[in-house]
Amino acid sequence: MNERRRPLDGLVIVGTLFLAFMFLNVMEDQGWLKFDWGAPEKPRQAAPVEAGAVDAALPASRGAPVGDLVEVPQPAALDADTIAAPYERFAVTQGIHGAEYDHMAIDISAGKGAAIHSPINGEVTALFIDEWGNPSLILENARYKIELLHGLFTVQIGDRIALGQPIGTESNQGNVADPWGFSCRERDCGYHTHINVFDKNLGRNVDPLELFHSQ
Ligand SMILES: [Zn+2]
Repeated sequence: MNERRRPLDGLVIVGTLFLAFMFLNVMEDQGWLKFDWGAPEKPRQAAPVEAGAVDAALPASRGAPVGDLVEVPQPAALDADTIAAPYERFAVTQGIHGAEYDHMAIDISAGKGAAIHSPINGEVTALFIDEWGNPSLILENARYKIELLHGLFTVQIGDRIALGQPIGTESNQGNVADPWGFSCRERDCGYHTHINVFDKNLGRNVDPLELFHSQ
């Protein structure tokens, strides 16, 4: 009797050990258990966002904020000198202006609801509504301080942002006028992004368009 049961007992033990091993594996995969095998931990990164994702997620009605963005993996080395326009294609709707409030900005437009991309690798250092009602986003790194106005911004203060990462969508929020000088408040006009670039190396504002073309 005992002689005949032995092979079965062996099988049961092996099976039980196998199930226990699988169970612990699943527990660890789910993050309920943590085994330290001595190997460095692999960071869990979110999938990158495609450039068009924000546009697709934007509701047809104007003024509606877009949904939360997936975190974009950061480049290994954060190059502070590289700068790019917030849009791949755009029209300049107003040349250099803003000297009265210490800007040397331009207004550019890629169309209502177009995704605005971060011009630099850096960090969101400010996000506020200024005294004229303009949503104001400030992005900074060691080289540049960039101010963007009027958009529906989807990032928050302290966010690390990668060059090209979607940071909001083009809108007409704040002190925006139509070509005849009439306010676009509560009206479907004046969509653009005001961009000012301060070069910390030079200690002054620089012409954004010249900078974009020089890259
Ligand atoms: Zn402007």
